[in-house]
Amino acid sequence: MADEFLLTYDGTCPICEAPTTFVSNDRWLRGGLTCKSCTNGSVPRERALAYVLNRIRPDWRNLSIHESSPVDRGISWKMRNQCTRYTGSHYFPDKPFGTTVEGYRNESLEDQTFPDNSFDIVVTLDVFEHVFQPGQMIKEIYRTLKPGGLYLSTFPIRKHQVTSHRPRVRKESDGRLTHLDTIEIHGNPVSGDGALVTFDYGYDIHNMLAYWVPFEVEISRFNMRRLGILGEYTEVISCEKH
Ligand SMILES: [Zn+2]
Repeated sequence: MADEFLLTYDGTCPICEAPTTFVSNDRWLRGGLTCKSCTNGSVPRERALAYVLNRIRPDWRNLSIHESSPVDRGISWKMRNQCTRYTGSHYFPDKPFGTTVEGYRNESLEDQTFPDNSFDIVVTLDVFEHVFQPGQMIKEIYRTLKPGGLYLSTFPIRKHQVTSHRPRVRKESDGRLTHLDTIEIHGNPVSGDGALVTFDYGYDIHNMLAYWVPFEVEISRFNMRRLGILGEYTEVISCEKH
């Protein structure tokens, strides 16, 4: 039967902002616990980011937002459709940066074409663990945020790991990749090859972020059944530029 799920219960979705039913057919709730009412569904980290966004920037619909590498569902779909100053970008390395490709702005997060002080909010959902130069990416996000701007992100913070920045792979000067650990690949909305995980981040990531640029950093972790924010790696990392 199509309606039989491993887990099903009623709650209130921070993306739909209405009563809904959460369902999962997967014990790995981070990837499996979806909202039946969200456009194209949603997963816990997306609801966690929406919850933080609604709480600390309730006027987000009137602000300028840059989201890198959005998936067309949940909070990304909502921001794109409800925020008039929303820019979604993807990384198409073979096309000119700063142009529109397949409906998205083509940007490399580590070397962006946006002017300084462009955005009120920058969002990345599970992107940070795939970049080769995380410090350079953070400097670019800081540069493109206005004073008072907010960077909201999710990415796995490894729960058994204290020290961040442990590379899983290194890019050599000729572009070849040297793998330093088992190869881990996540889904990539614009490439069937998937996205390689480049770094494992640990408990000290709040200090790393503030070391790269003078962000004010706060990390939130959840066990909020009613809001459908359950499972592993639900952290939302909030960085404010002052
Ligand atoms: Zn929903």
